[in-house]
Amino acid sequence: MVEPLAPGSIVDTHTHTRFSDGVGTFEENARAAVAAGCSVLVSTDHLTLPSEMDPAGDVQVIESELVAHRTAWEAARTAHPELEMIYGFECDWYPGCEENVRRWSDGAQVLLGSVHWLGEKDDGAWIDDASDMTIWRELGPDEVWRRYVDAWCRACESPLPFGTMAHPDLPERMRNEGFAATIDLAPLWDEMVACARDTGRRVELSTAGWRKGVGDYYPARGLLDRFCRAGVPITVGSDAHVPADLCDGIREAYAHAWDAGYRAIEVPRADGSWESMPLQ
Ligand SMILES: [Zn+2]
Ligand SMILES: [Zn+2]
Repeated sequence: MVEPLAPGSIVDTHTHTRFSDGVGTFEENARAAVAAGCSVLVSTDHLTLPSEMDPAGDVQVIESELVAHRTAWEAARTAHPELEMIYGFECDWYPGCEENVRRWSDGAQVLLGSVHWLGEKDDGAWIDDASDMTIWRELGPDEVWRRYVDAWCRACESPLPFGTMAHPDLPERMRNEGFAATIDLAPLWDEMVACARDTGRRVELSTAGWRKGVGDYYPARGLLDRFCRAGVPITVGSDAHVPADLCDGIREAYAHAWDAGYRAIEVPRADGSWESMPLQ
């Protein structure tokens, strides 16, 4: 058993290292987290992906490095007993991913469920890659949104034990890049809320949108309000890719969640449990 966290403790449930597409080592991230007053740090590098999706291994922990990844994480944890560190992965959902995810995430305590990829694994595209906007130009933002929500709901329905669904409205990433949706998103938001509620998923309140020019959290306030009304629990994460962003905006996110009606967030603990931590 672990001691309950003090209300409002700083927790970062979504972080990356240089093993995937981040910059820092586990050690550098741990030090940055301690300096930021962090109580619980969840490491969530992108899990190994099929070669069709990441031919150069740019964004993921490649399969041959999974053991070194775990070893480096253990070393940082041992060096920082003052910080509760939890081993996890951010898992891309795509049709048929389940067997790969199970094999490659063996030993991880927390899996984030994410949809960054639309389509089949050998015939799809990233929706959050500003260097290649082909899918946005071909389909237009409204159709990207529709297909995204469809994929997101299928990810919620997956038998994989996703602890939380990361950055739930990721298509907002391109809102200020000329690809804002022109349709009313409320019906799609309602679909997402029903999927999360019916499948018992948590969703993430992510501070990354502020660093990506979105001008809002993921999810946007209208969607967060709906999740709250439906009783869908939240986790909070920075999605930091550099040590300086560890725990970025977490306190402000707590205040934002409170304002939306949340009184607690959910936190994975080192003993394998999930704790409901009061915001105040
Ligand atoms: Zn992500
Ligand atoms: Zn991430």
